[in-house]
Amino acid sequence: MDIVCTDRELGIFEKIAAAAQQLDVPCYLIGGFVRDKIIGRPTKDADIVCMGDGIELAHAVASLFHPKPTVAYFKTFGTAQIKLDDFEIEFVGARKESYSQNSRKPEILPGSLEDDQNRRDFTINALAISLNKADFGTLVDPFNGLTDIERKILQTPLAPLQTFSDDPLRMMRAIRFASQLGFEIAEETFQAIRDNTHRIRIVSQERITDELNKIMLSRKPSVGWDLLFRSGLLQIIFPQMVDLHGAEYVDGKGHKDNFYHTLQVLDNISENTEDLWIRWAALLHDIGKPPTKKFEEGHGWTFHGHEVVGARMVPKIFTRLKLPLNEKMRMVQKLVLLHLRPISLTKENITDSAIRRLLFDAGEDIDHLMMLCEADITSKNPNKVKRFLKNFEMVRKRLQEVEESDKIRNWQPPISGEMIMAKFGLSPGKTVGVIKDAIREAILDGLIPNDFEAAHAFMLQKAAELNLSAVE
Ligand code: ATP
Ligand code: MG
Repeated sequence: MDIVCTDRELGIFEKIAAAAQQLDVPCYLIGGFVRDKIIGRPTKDADIVCMGDGIELAHAVASLFHPKPTVAYFKTFGTAQIKLDDFEIEFVGARKESYSQNSRKPEILPGSLEDDQNRRDFTINALAISLNKADFGTLVDPFNGLTDIERKILQTPLAPLQTFSDDPLRMMRAIRFASQLGFEIAEETFQAIRDNTHRIRIVSQERITDELNKIMLSRKPSVGWDLLFRSGLLQIIFPQMVDLHGAEYVDGKGHKDNFYHTLQVLDNISENTEDLWIRWAALLHDIGKPPTKKFEEGHGWTFHGHEVVGARMVPKIFTRLKLPLNEKMRMVQKLVLLHLRPISLTKENITDSAIRRLLFDAGEDIDHLMMLCEADITSKNPNKVKRFLKNFEMVRKRLQEVEESDKIRNWQPPISGEMIMAKFGLSPGKTVGVIKDAIREAILDGLIPNDFEAAHAFMLQKAAELNLSAVE
């Protein structure tokens, strides 16, 4: 083998080779698996291309295993999959593709290995390894993909303009691979992306967002986002991000470039967490800055309320990007909304009630919030960085102390909405909320102790102010 495989993988490939020989169908390992093996990245799926019927080959291979794995196949696409524990193998017949102008779904004809390699998106993804008896294990590399892996270059096997116009998803893939693998996109290839950005409109949002998430999960996601910006794709797929770019000057006073600041924050947080959603929160934390930007005489640039505006933008952005509208989104929204709060707690003479309030508002996400705040420090002045970090360390300490004594994190006020309704014969509505909020605020502010009796007495007092009387 021209690549290094585990014994188990080798055993599987030998079985595939045996089945293919029996059917007299040449076959090859191709694409991502070969690439990742050469690079030395872990891989859990392999693609097999054969000069024949992929579904038939998959069935023949499956019969060689005991117990026999299920073959999942898609007749219309001519593809089949078998799963051996956590290893997934996909079989497909070699194909030749021709594209029409308004769809990224090509017309497909049977083809040779060469045809199949020609339709691959990048030279590094067109590498094949023979599973045939005569030359088992030999690398078939018509486009010097191996050299491109060594040089860390992404380029298309055929003319890049045509390649991207045929299937514009490949533009996103190019940028995603650059970000994931730390590769450079060759100049001509990058230029072709710039010239084809308008074609991205025929790609479904789900596919685009899949690539965005892969960029987000790469070691240094800023690489991908910066390439999206420089290619012109970002303008089309996520214009609110582009609005962060650049610095405006009035009377010689500028503000920082919020686009590159954001990318720095994203990279910073990515050093501390693999969590996709915390990374999205970092990307979106300042998204409300462009719409709130003002120049105030004698004061300079301000972005008052950008955290509130930004939090309101989160559901709209998630909807547009077809990201899930669930508790993950609400976590992102919460972090965006609260991202300035720990800074306000670095001032002198901070009361316990201010700390309690943040614990209550952040709940389970307090640690993520602190992580975001620390990542948000992008000053180039090491003394400042040191001072800010030290301040946050103090805040963390206070948070811990107050949490230990008050257990606010997962706290629910001792009087519920139902209790209030029952007591005063109210139906759900504003008045219930007013009383409930008042009790919660009183406890958080330390006006009354955090127990049922105090809260009950406070409720009666509040109700009297509202001219309510108890029904029981
Ligand atoms: P990953 O699995 O990390 O997403 P991959 O390169 O394996 O990366 P797959 O989507 O699994 O990507 O596709 C397997 C192979 O199929 C690729 O290596 C490439 O050769 C080819 N391929 C996938 N998508 C395209 C495309 N849009 N255009 C051309 N070739 C593609
Ligand atoms: Mg793959």
